Amino acid sequence: MSGGRATVLVAGAGIGGLTAALALADKGFKVIVAERTPRLEEAGAGLQLSPNASSVLIGLGLKSSLEACAIAPEAVSVMSGPRGGELVRLPFDKPDPVAPYWVIHRADLQAALAARASTHSLIELRLGCELESFTTNADGVVVNLQQETALQRETVAALIGADGLWSAVRRQLDPATQPRFTGLIAWRGTVENRSPLDQASPSRVQLWMGSNAHLVTYPMAHGQQTNVVAISSGQWHDQGWSVPATATEASAAFTAPRWSEPARAIIASVTHWRKWALFTLPASATWIDGRVALLGDAAHAMLPFAAQGAGMAIEDAAVLAMCMSEGAGDIASALQHYADLRRERVARVQNLAQQNGRIYHLAGPIATARDLSMKLLGGRRLLARQNWIYNWRA
Ligand SMILES: Cc1cc2nc3c(=O)[nH]c(=O)nc-3n(C[C@H](O)[C@H](O)[C@H](O)COP(=O)(O)OP(=O)(O)OC[C@H]3O[C@@H](n4cnc5c(N)ncnc54)[C@H](O)[C@@H]3O)c2cc1C
Repeated sequence: MSGGRATVLVAGAGIGGLTAALALADKGFKVIVAERTPRLEEAGAGLQLSPNASSVLIGLGLKSSLEACAIAPEAVSVMSGPRGGELVRLPFDKPDPVAPYWVIHRADLQAALAARASTHSLIELRLGCELESFTTNADGVVVNLQQETALQRETVAALIGADGLWSAVRRQLDPATQPRFTGLIAWRGTVENRSPLDQASPSRVQLWMGSNAHLVTYPMAHGQQTNVVAISSGQWHDQGWSVPATATEASAAFTAPRWSEPARAIIASVTHWRKWALFTLPASATWIDGRVALLGDAAHAMLPFAAQGAGMAIEDAAVLAMCMSEGAGDIASALQHYADLRRERVARVQNLAQQNGRIYHLAGPIATARDLSMKLLGGRRLLARQNWIYNWRA
């Protein structure tokens, strides 16, 4: 089907689904993107886009639109939650023009992808259009969609489930696999950097490690805001990315003396909190059945502690489009090839994210030993440990 006009239906216009639509259309496929929400939500906050992901997006022609809203931080500062100082700094070199390290608001990234998709003659974006179910036959996939009160039925060559953690496509493809609550909650807020002094402060990602909790901050909105995400344990595990939360619950794990004054000051500066419960999928989840495939969170939702949730969805999209383009019309084999190429790497990133969580949340003497070994290793060598992630190219 290389260069042909087979139609692919992508369920979900999140980061993975929109990137897949652009990558598939660039290879000559017609794409229908069905997105459940009637408009792309402002919900969500910052995402980190490492070079493995930014290079894909730049390759799809998004460089100027993303440069207008992303920030290239100069370093990651690893901070001591109990003591308050910087333990080690991981310096980013001058940004690579074709593969920078960016931080960006999720809504800005989604809007840039959607704007590009809406100008592509091979992409049709249907908002307020929910995938309900599908059946497969020898000719393709019959997809049942609901748009407002109207039922729609499309017969397509392939169905890609990019419909996130609670994927309707996965529910049908692999009903036994359910998201698992990790016992962790992310609390999220933004702080307005009002004074010019705040805005001039170095654009660094800060990772604050403390006992059973951690804190990540980075600049957004041209340095006018700081994104704050605090992670701690809890029982609450409703669905949703942006459930309102109180300052009392968000700050409960960040008290003296285990957390120093500077870390507590960051928490105290957030006025409006949102929370989302962290769920993951097991690495054994099924991704493929014939002409139906999953990508992104629908296939492999992971803890956000390697900052690769969006990155892996973007990589998936690029590899999926390449496999379908090179698949000579055998879509089932092309999708199988996509899964074969992706599974090992994604499982490794899922493991890393889990391991990072354990390391960040250490307490007592073992945390002191961790801090010392990080200092001894130094920022450059710590950063080089991420090369296997960041140096990936489509
Ligand atoms: C509203 C929202 C806010 C988020 N905020 C953050 C954040 O602040 N920080 C962070 O690290 N990660 C956040 N994430 C998750 C992050 O975007 C993903 O981990 C990552 O980008 C992988 O993206 P994805 O495309 O696989 O899934 P998602 O980004 O979750 O996108 C899935 C899309 O599918 C749509 N959808 C779901 N079911 C159906 C259906 N049946 N039919 C059609 N469409 C459907 C959803 O509305 C959504 O647009 C957020 C996700 C969402 C949806």
